[in-house]
Amino acid sequence: MIDLTLSPNDEQVLRAVREEALIARRYARYYDENEHEFPPDQLPEAKDHPSFMTRMGHRGDGDAGMAVLSMLIAMGQTWGDYSVRLRRQERGLGNSALQAAGTDEQKAKWGHLTLAMAITEPGCGSDPSLVRTSARLDGDHWVLNGEKIFVTTGCRAEGVVVWATVDKAAGRGGIKSFLVLKGTPGFIVAHKEKKLGIRADDTAAYVFQDCRIPRDQLLGGDEQVHRESSGGFKGVMKTFNMTRPAVAAIGLGMAEAAIDFTRDALREAGFAITYGPTLAAQPAPVERLMRLEALLEAAQLATIRAAWLADQGQPNNMEASIAKAKAGGAVREITQGCIEILGPMGVSRDHLLEKWFRDVRITDIYEGTGEIQRLIIARTLLGYSRKELK
Ligand SMILES: Cc1cc2nc3c(=O)[nH]c(=O)nc-3n(C[C@H](O)[C@H](O)[C@H](O)COP(=O)(O)OP(=O)(O)OC[C@H]3O[C@@H](n4cnc5c(N)ncnc54)[C@H](O)[C@@H]3O)c2cc1C
Repeated sequence: MIDLTLSPNDEQVLRAVREEALIARRYARYYDENEHEFPPDQLPEAKDHPSFMTRMGHRGDGDAGMAVLSMLIAMGQTWGDYSVRLRRQERGLGNSALQAAGTDEQKAKWGHLTLAMAITEPGCGSDPSLVRTSARLDGDHWVLNGEKIFVTTGCRAEGVVVWATVDKAAGRGGIKSFLVLKGTPGFIVAHKEKKLGIRADDTAAYVFQDCRIPRDQLLGGDEQVHRESSGGFKGVMKTFNMTRPAVAAIGLGMAEAAIDFTRDALREAGFAITYGPTLAAQPAPVERLMRLEALLEAAQLATIRAAWLADQGQPNNMEASIAKAKAGGAVREITQGCIEILGPMGVSRDHLLEKWFRDVRITDIYEGTGEIQRLIIARTLLGYSRKELK
């Protein structure tokens, strides 16, 4: 059974995370308005502030599992800002892919690098079987050609895990992932994307033009094309069982910031916020806030459950999708609801609420949209195959 009590050790870590988040928040507006700039690896305050990591100590009885703790840390960090950190510990989605699908040798060789992951192309997002980037074997090299868009950590990453087809006719079975290092001739970072929200985040577009990489940079090393379904493909898809709850947690941190801001503003305006009376007895804005708080908690619990299953070594494919689908809708409803409660204060750029509203929108888009998560959940619950329900 899940025990939601935090150990003193974990409480200390999470308190330190929130302290760092408040410092990062001071810089949030600047990097939102200066999209072309990258937040620094360390903020000036870092020199007077030991990292929250130093408080991790030895994990012991009563401490949360690492997956659950990572979700709580992500929620705490993004309660400050989506991208700005007191100290950046850059790791990309490609690192998770390497861990899920790489050989031991590949993990040892590239595990220390920051790796982005490039699946999406113009014309291919939700359905990766449409990947057009190609990989052709030429002697002891693969030759990559194609275009990728919206690659998170794409500018700063030292390398990227790229999805490409080795045999278009084989559909999903022909899709393999390749590790390409920055600086490889033919690997071009075309531009940094400009976005509605999470503007301080590094999102890039790539072009591969006759980009030659050594044969051993095929992730997992399996060169065979499996016509029906590729084990390699499934291996890389497993990456999402941890990253989808993480995306949920990131969105929920910002939604919590919006709720805290709104609660404080209501108190300042003279509303008493007491949790005893029935909702019907509350003034309208307080009743609305409390409904949003309940929604936040439901989405937080779904996220923690998905991570807790991972900590127990249990399958969490469906729960990861539930967490992401629930959070994706919840964070939009929460931030929009907070703006509606506060009116002009909600849309003013004097405050961060309008930014949180823009920043959370991504929760329901990347790593599989809300619609795709609901498809996965329905297939699992009803026992349909991908072909039967798409
Ligand atoms: C800021 C940002 C960062 C990103 N980072 C990365 C990254 O690091 N790496 C990467 O590879 N990609 C990344 N992406 C891309 C992201 O994963 C895709 O945008 C997403 O998967 C959706 O794909 P698409 O945009 O092609 O939309 P489409 O697949 O064209 O979908 C369009 C709409 O149709 C819906 N839809 C599609 N298929 C179905 C279906 N079968 N049933 C019902 N509805 C459906 C979708 O839900 C969506 O609403 C990022 C995107 C953004 C905006």
